[in-house]
Amino acid sequence: MKKQRALLIIKPDGVQRGIIGKIITRFETVGLKIIGLKFEWATKEKVITHYPETDAWFKKVGERTLTNYEKKGLDAKSVFKTNDAVAIGKIVKSWLIEYFQESPVFLTVVESYDCIEIVRKLSGNTIPVMAAPGTIRGDFSHDTIDLANEQNRPLRNLIHASDTVEDGEKEIKVWFNDEELFDYELAAEKFMYKI
Ligand code: GDP
Repeated sequence: MKKQRALLIIKPDGVQRGIIGKIITRFETVGLKIIGLKFEWATKEKVITHYPETDAWFKKVGERTLTNYEKKGLDAKSVFKTNDAVAIGKIVKSWLIEYFQESPVFLTVVESYDCIEIVRKLSGNTIPVMAAPGTIRGDFSHDTIDLANEQNRPLRNLIHASDTVEDGEKEIKVWFNDEELFDYELAAEKFMYKI
């Protein structure tokens, strides 16, 4: 079995609320190895490259809004002037580009077996109000889609965590050079794995 790597980004709301340490501690405590860390002002270009420029990604994001609005009996047209999922996803991405530049962001690369499943589990549901207690988003945030959309901004959900192994590798390349990533053995690994 191969180890996986994931990119974590503490977004501007996490940085501004002063909970970088609290968030990163959760990943360290569960046993993930930190192999890269840095603080950076994001550029527009990096954010554009970080979030996929594909119809599939726009559709996933747009459909999240549409499903949520349907449940609450709201009309997406009132905010987005359209009910097309791809068009809604594109608008949310434009908000993400602004949001990521509101403050420096804190970037971390972690490594472990089953890393992707673990970082997603610890982060919790994308929509904070639906994120389970015990997750980062569930414990430290409470935003809703309709409020975020009404205020023309992305959900303030504190953290980005890579969703797939392939996305993780692609995202790490956007933010880190090879020299900024460290290959070393963590004492705890000896006791967690049979090495
Ligand atoms: P993640 O992997 O859980 O961060 O979710 P996605 O990759 O699908 O979306 C990226 C980010 O866009 C999310 O973390 C939110 O900050 C924001 N976002 C996603 N969907 C919506 C939405 O429907 N409305 C708003 N306002 N923001 C959204």
